[in-house]
Amino acid sequence: MTLNKRTKLVVGFATCALVAAPVAAFAGGHGDNTRAAKKAIIGGKARNVILLIGDGMGDSEITSARNYQVGADGRLAMDTLPLTGAYTTYAVQKDKPSIPDYVTDSAASGTGWATGHKTYNGAISVTPDEKSVATILELAKKSGFRTGDVTTAEVQDATPAVLASHVVDRDCKGPAVMEGCEVNLIENGGKGSIAEQMVATRPDVLLGGGSAYFEQKSTAGQFKGRTVTDQARAGGYQVVTTADELAKATADKPILGSFAKNNMDLEWVGPKPTLEGTAPASCAPNTARTATQPHLADMAGKALDVLGQQTKKSKKGFFLQIEGASIDKQDHAANPCGQIGETIAFDAAVKKALDYQKSHKDTLVVVSADHGHTSQIVEGPTKGYTATLKTLEGGEMTLSYATADITGSQQHTGTEVRIAAGGPQAANVLGVTNQTDLFFTMRRALGL
Ligand code: MG
Ligand code: ZN
Repeated sequence: MTLNKRTKLVVGFATCALVAAPVAAFAGGHGDNTRAAKKAIIGGKARNVILLIGDGMGDSEITSARNYQVGADGRLAMDTLPLTGAYTTYAVQKDKPSIPDYVTDSAASGTGWATGHKTYNGAISVTPDEKSVATILELAKKSGFRTGDVTTAEVQDATPAVLASHVVDRDCKGPAVMEGCEVNLIENGGKGSIAEQMVATRPDVLLGGGSAYFEQKSTAGQFKGRTVTDQARAGGYQVVTTADELAKATADKPILGSFAKNNMDLEWVGPKPTLEGTAPASCAPNTARTATQPHLADMAGKALDVLGQQTKKSKKGFFLQIEGASIDKQDHAANPCGQIGETIAFDAAVKKALDYQKSHKDTLVVVSADHGHTSQIVEGPTKGYTATLKTLEGGEMTLSYATADITGSQQHTGTEVRIAAGGPQAANVLGVTNQTDLFFTMRRALGL
């Protein structure tokens, strides 16, 4: 058997649990793609929508992961979506919403595609004047679609939270941490913390970390004195805490998967950047990773399997969001291998979605990010912190983190980011759009 160059690269890294299989790219090369591009433009309705979000996954983060894992001329699964555009991500100022906040956080940006509304940094699906606005997941559920929300972060973290809760501050994750969200307290006539609202909204599949907040007790209302996990069970959820339990969970009841106290463990480890730069080094699997935690692709596969079973005989399909959360968190931490490992793990989840779409052509798949981030691919040491990685194709790639001190948190950036799609309505990501436009694209696709 002869192995082509890309296959060899992947085999060479077989020690690492997460390897995105190389896939044929749609665009590029020396051929004429006109017919393929025309064929990819499909109007009409989608039975299912799968939205995959790489948190903080700007073009730089995608490129460094590609260079490292499949080579500069290789293609990740996310690179093979047929139609690609860019969208703007800015937030707005709370006190003066006509003025942009050019650098968004995950709460404002998530609210953008979840609701179609621009809002202020920190807002979870509320407008600048703190009014709750319906989300794509809530609208889909109300209309008879099944729904799922999957992340590697706490499920109460901003990106998953924007689909199924409404609070004025993203930090109000559980009933014991409601400072700043007095207006959302149940005792004040609100709907409670993010954790309480999410299990009340009751997506059919809710997977990630964040058990710390589910173990907090409600301070008022029907479930006063009981944990949010109790509330979930009362609402019919089967609660699973390990990969094995998740694999065995059945489709006849909603699934709450809570696999870590806070964020789930990282896939990879590697060199820490310094002011002088580092000797070229490779990334390695994180041996400290809790073995009972599922990988993002495992959670994505299970969610697709369960939602597919649940909708097999019904008229309506499903809406599912899958987030690779710690691309962002490791970019904040100036951890190149952490960041790349999470991007590759996210890409494996994209592959699951694309495989599902192959046998369910009436599925819209969208892959995007919520905002750009710090990491830059540079030539050598910079004014900031750099580390050099030995890529699997034999090159040396230097990444720079230069928006904060090494002990601080590197910053988001205000750049536009990639949005790619395939399936019905995918043409609406072409050109330069606004993040809020994605809400209308998905709503139109599902006929909501
Ligand atoms: Mg996030
Ligand atoms: Zn961030």
